[in-house]
Amino acid sequence: MSTSLFLFRYDLRLKDNPGLFAAARHENVLPVYIYDVESCPDYLLGEASRWWLSQSLQKLNESLGGKLNVYFGKTDEILLNLCNRFNIKHVYASRGEEPWLIELDEKLAEVLGNQEITWKTFQSAILWDPASVLKKDGTPYKVFTPFFKKGCLEAIGPRRPLPLPQQTHYILDSNSDYGTVEKHILPSHSWHHPWKHLWKVGEAAALNQFELFMEKKFSHYAEGRNFPAQDHVSRLSPHLRFGEISPHFIWHHVQDSIANGSPNKERFLAEIGWREFSYYLLFHFPHMMKNNFNSKFDDFPWQANPIYLRQWQKGLTGVPIVDAGMRELWQTGYMHNRVRMIVGSFLVKNLLLSWQEGRKWFDDCLVDADFANNTAGWQWVAGSGADAAPYFRIFNPVSQSENFDSQGEYIRKFVPEIANIPTPYLFAPWTASENILQSAKVKLGVTYPMPIVDLSASRQQALLAFEKIKAPAKI
Ligand SMILES: Cc1cc2nc3c(=O)[nH]c(=O)nc-3n(C[C@H](O)[C@H](O)[C@H](O)COP(=O)(O)OP(=O)(O)OC[C@H]3O[C@@H](n4cnc5c(N)ncnc54)[C@H](O)[C@@H]3O)c2cc1C
Repeated sequence: MSTSLFLFRYDLRLKDNPGLFAAARHENVLPVYIYDVESCPDYLLGEASRWWLSQSLQKLNESLGGKLNVYFGKTDEILLNLCNRFNIKHVYASRGEEPWLIELDEKLAEVLGNQEITWKTFQSAILWDPASVLKKDGTPYKVFTPFFKKGCLEAIGPRRPLPLPQQTHYILDSNSDYGTVEKHILPSHSWHHPWKHLWKVGEAAALNQFELFMEKKFSHYAEGRNFPAQDHVSRLSPHLRFGEISPHFIWHHVQDSIANGSPNKERFLAEIGWREFSYYLLFHFPHMMKNNFNSKFDDFPWQANPIYLRQWQKGLTGVPIVDAGMRELWQTGYMHNRVRMIVGSFLVKNLLLSWQEGRKWFDDCLVDADFANNTAGWQWVAGSGADAAPYFRIFNPVSQSENFDSQGEYIRKFVPEIANIPTPYLFAPWTASENILQSAKVKLGVTYPMPIVDLSASRQQALLAFEKIKAPAKI
C-alpha cells in the first residue's frame, strides 16, 4: 500500500487544498504539521499569530479525526525521519510564497531528492504566480492598478477550487507531539485569554464567516469598509493568513454569485488583489522585508524615541482615534484597515519613528500578521513602498475621525475614559473648555493624556524632513 506525506503549512484546511488532494491519491496519507523555528529564524510568527495557530491546529486535528501529527524541529530532518519510518516516497505541500520559504522549498527538494523521495508543491495561498505576471518588457510591475488589471485580470484566471479529497485514510504516528501544541506554541502571556470569545478559528469558522459576510455585509462593502464602528468588512484576514479558507474559493464564489458592475464586487476583489500585490512585491523585491522599497528613504532622519513608541503601543498618545486603534489591536488582535492607516501615519509622520518599529509591533500583536501584507502596508503608509501614499500626504487624525467615526462610537468603545466628552470635542479633547472636560469627568494629563505631539507642528517637521531626502528615486 502506498503512503504519502502531506505537510500542512499556511493552508490549514481540507477543502480546496491542491497538495492534500494530490497526496490523497495514495492509499494512506500521513498528515503532518512541523513547528520549525530553526530553518528561517529571522521570520518567526508573532505572539498573537501563535495564539491563532495553536487554535487552528486543534480545529484541523478535529477535521482529520484526531490524526494530525505535529512535530517540533527542523523541517528537513523531521521529513527525512518520517519518510524513513513510514517508507514514504512522496511528500506533498503547498508552495512557500515568502522568499525564505521558497529557499526552504528548494532545499527540501534537494535533501529529499537525494533519498529518492519526491517533494511536490502546489500554489495554494495566492491566485496568480508572481513569476509569470510581468510587464511586456519582462520586468515586474511596481504599480497596483496595471499589475491587477493587466497583469492579473487579463491573464488566465485563478484555477477553480477543488472539492474535498475523497476516501482518505489518514495515519496517526504514535510519536506525534500533538499533545504539546499548547505548551510549545501558545504564548505564556495571558493577554489573549478573552480572544476565545471574540474569534472563531478554523476551516469551518472561516467558511461561516465568509457566508455571513456575503449574506449580511457584502452589499455595503464598498462604502461601509471605511467606517471602523460599522460591521461591513469581512474579517477574513486571519483565516486567509493561515489558509483556513482558500482565496480561489473566495474569488470564484464572488465572481459567480455577484453580478458584474457591482461596486462592492469590484472593491472587494480589488482588496483581494492588494493581497496578491503584497505577495508579488515581496517575491520580486525581497529586500523590502527589511529595507525601504524606495532607497531614497534610507537617508530619512527617523527618530529613536522609546517613550513615544511605548505611548503609541499602549494607546496613550492623547490622540483619541490613534489610541482607539492601538487598544483595539491589543484587546482583539485586529485593527480596522482605515485605523491601521491612521495609526501608521501618526507613527511615521507625526512621531517620526521608522515604519519598521510599527511593522514589528503589528507582527507581534495582529492575529492576521502577514509578512507580505504587513510589510507592504507599512511601506505604503510611510511613503517608502511601491505605489505608496506620497510622503507629503499626512493623515490628519482629527479630520479622519470626523469623517470616518463621526458619532465617535469607535473612539468611545476603545477609549472609555473620554466617552462622556461631547462628540464635537471627542476627536480633539484638548480643544474643549475646562467646563466641558469637567462635566465629562476628564482631566487632561491625569485621566487621559495631553497629545504627546502637537499635530500641526509635527506635520511641518515631517515635511521638512521629507524635503531633505527629495532626491530622484533610486528604486
Ligand atoms: C500598516 C498596515 C499593516 C497591515 N498589516 C496587515 C497584515 O499583517 N495582514 C493582513 O492580512 N493585512 C494587513 N493590512 C491590510 C488590511 O488592513 C487588512 O488586510 C484588513 O484590514 C483585514 O480586515 P478584513 O479581512 O476585514 O478586510 P476586508 O476589507 O474584508 O478585505 C478582504 C481581504 O482582502 C485583503 N486585504 C484587504 N485590504 C488589504 C490591503 N490594504 N492590503 C493587502 N490585503 C488587503 C485581506 O486579505 C482581507 O482579509 C495592513 C494594512 C496597513 C495599512
